[in-house]
Amino acid sequence: MPFVFDPTPQASVAVANSPDRFPVRRIFCVGRNYAAHAREMGKDPDREPPFFFTKPADAVADSPCTVPYPPLTEDLHHEIELVIAIGKGGANIAPDAVTDHIWGAGVGIDLTRRDLQAEAKKMGRPWDWAKAFDFSAPMSPLVPFADVASIEAGRIWLAVNGETRQDADISDLIWPVRDHIAYLSQAMSLAPGDLIMTGTPAGVGAVHLGDVMTGGVDGIGEIEVTIGDRD
Ligand code: MN
Repeated sequence: MPFVFDPTPQASVAVANSPDRFPVRRIFCVGRNYAAHAREMGKDPDREPPFFFTKPADAVADSPCTVPYPPLTEDLHHEIELVIAIGKGGANIAPDAVTDHIWGAGVGIDLTRRDLQAEAKKMGRPWDWAKAFDFSAPMSPLVPFADVASIEAGRIWLAVNGETRQDADISDLIWPVRDHIAYLSQAMSLAPGDLIMTGTPAGVGAVHLGDVMTGGVDGIGEIEVTIGDRD
């Protein structure tokens, strides 16, 4: 059956040391998954179960890259995050079985229009305009790995123009990878190609035209993103 026009190309992310690409289906993001970041956003980290928001698959961009300063904001923030790539789908996945569903991992930046997010929170509106804009999910190349236990610790960091802004450890996650993916899979089925941005540590802040963000997760990879002109 023909389409009425050519479908949009499949969104995808690079795979480290390979010509292959990881096809992206959905991007799920965990909110406030590090206690110090929850506190800097004015929340009590001990009282909330994990919650999620999403970005569209075509928000990805391959590091290293220049992304345009997005419209409608004067307060664009960086959030460095460990990214988990799903290779096998499922629902109601038990924490101990999460490893069987993971293809690999990478490093992403959850770019955020913080002023629009603050307005959405105040008005009780969705976060889409704050989080789900074009180029809002730049990603490092993904690396395959064998066991979720191999990413339960490791330094996560981000610098702007060489100055460290975020510096923490994956072991600080309030809801570790196996737990928040199990929880997510109770709400909706996961499928191959899903990416999960696992939350950002403290130290989020603004970036401006010409700024260069560098960041990484030890043992997983590094990312470099420059802020370009508004489209
Ligand atoms: Mn985030």
